[in-house]
Order: sequence, then C-alpha cells, then structure tokens
Amino acid sequence: MAACANTDDAAPDELTPAEIAALPDATVDLDHSDLAAIQEIVQDDGALFDTADAVEGIDAAVDDDDDPSDDAGGATSVIYYAPILKWGLHPRASDALRSINVPTWRIMQTIGNAAASAGTHAQDGSVNGHPYSAATDISVSGLSDAQIRNLLERLGKVGFAAWFRWPGHDGWPSSQVRHIHAVYANSKMKSSLRSQVRSWLVGRNGLVSNTHYNFHVFSAAAKTTVRHKFTQSANGTTNGGSNCFVGGNYCGGDKISGNTRWLYRCTGAGAPTLVRKCAYGCAVRSGQNDACK
Ligand SMILES: [Zn+2]
Repeated sequence: MAACANTDDAAPDELTPAEIAALPDATVDLDHSDLAAIQEIVQDDGALFDTADAVEGIDAAVDDDDDPSDDAGGATSVIYYAPILKWGLHPRASDALRSINVPTWRIMQTIGNAAASAGTHAQDGSVNGHPYSAATDISVSGLSDAQIRNLLERLGKVGFAAWFRWPGHDGWPSSQVRHIHAVYANSKMKSSLRSQVRSWLVGRNGLVSNTHYNFHVFSAAAKTTVRHKFTQSANGTTNGGSNCFVGGNYCGGDKISGNTRWLYRCTGAGAPTLVRKCAYGCAVRSGQNDACK
C-alpha cells in the first residue's frame, strides 16, 4: 500500500463531550499569557514563507517509554543525526519544523515558560531522555496574513495541528498574545492536546468553545497528513517510527517487515498481525490496502 489505508480516510467524527471538556480555556491561560514577556530579536525572513509548499517527512523511531534506564546506549536507545532546534521539542517536531524553514528564533515556547504551567504546554514526557511538550508556540513577527496562512498550511502538511492565535478572533481573547500554537500529531501527548488535534481535524479552534476556525481553511493534503500521523500515534503512544498506518493491510516488505508473500495488518507500535498466508502471493497496491493475489 503506497499511500494510505482506506480504513483511515473516513471523515472524522465531531468531538465527544468528554473531548470538548478536555480542551483548554483561553480566558484562564497561564501558558500563553506568559508569552508577552518574551523579547524577540526579529529577523526579516518573511520571504521564506511566500509559498505553502511542504513535504511530509517520515517520523524517526524514538524511545519514549519514560524509562530512564534505557536512555543511554541501551537496546532501545536511539541516536539522532539532526540536533534539536530548541530545548523541549520532540525530535520529530524538530525535524518537521526544520523541513519547513521555521528558524529557532521563531520558536517562542515548548515546555511552558510559566512557573505554574499546568496547561497545554506542560511536559508530555521524555524522548530519548530529553523532556518535551508536544505543543509549540511560533512567532508570527514580521509576517503578512498571507505568509501566516502559508506557514499554517506548511505546518499542517508536515503533521502539526496548528492555529494562528489572533487576539479577538476565533475564540482567542483580545487580551492574549498573537502567535501560532502547534501540536505535533505523532507523539505521546496529554489529553488536552489530543482533544486539540481532534478539534483541528474537524475544522474547529482547539479551545473549549470548540467553534469553527475561520482564519484559514486547511487543504485536504494537510488534513490527511495530520490524521495519519495522529493515527500512527495510536492515541498518544509512539508508533516506534513505523511508517504504516494503523489498521491498514500490507504485504510483508511494504512498510512492514514480514514474508513478502503474506498479508499483514499494521498495528502501529507492535508487530504486524498476520491476516493471511496468501496462496498465490501478495500484491502491493498503490493508494489502497494491499491484498492477496
Ligand atoms: Zn501554545
């Protein structure tokens, strides 16, 4: 299966009352009111965002089991080749931000700066021994509205549920700080962030008001990427870097390991499940589930 599983492509459901209740309340938001204190050295790099072009990357395998004993040189420890753009980023999010030209100076916040942070930017866990938050705040200083839309679209295309927090619009209080709030969809994350990704997927604002988001309408490509990455995260736990989509059927050797003549189902984190030992071999099919010949 070269593209994606049919089982994963249905329109997502609206949020349940429990998911809405887990969304953050923008009127009492210590995490973001603290952003006002950040002193930026603004660089004139707006031309970097004159297009919405972006290419989805493959998520690197990570060790995010929160077991420190295997973080340094253990069997499951993972070595990175690209340095993290900023402390507190998930390495997959860091790679994705780099791929769309987001410079370090625009990253305002990862794990919450607020001393009392208990909200959306609280630490989500440790990956390869380093603490991270799946939520990242990005500065829009010096960008036109068109460039902000391009940046949002790029973020979507590489796997972030992202909103421009525009004071006085889309449920964002006029007293709060102007920025982009982005959640990387394929990482372990707290329930409030999972609800935010769900809210983004149905075109809503990711706040407890859960209203339709109007500043930008994301492309189908961006929504598909975020939906697939969120599915890979298996509701917030790592997929161990697997490149298959949970629930999809694959021949062995097509994004999963196994006998090339047999058909398997992707489970995300675990070993693939054998569906059938095909009598006449297995056919890789572009854009749909693989099948026995
Ligand atoms: Zn934020």
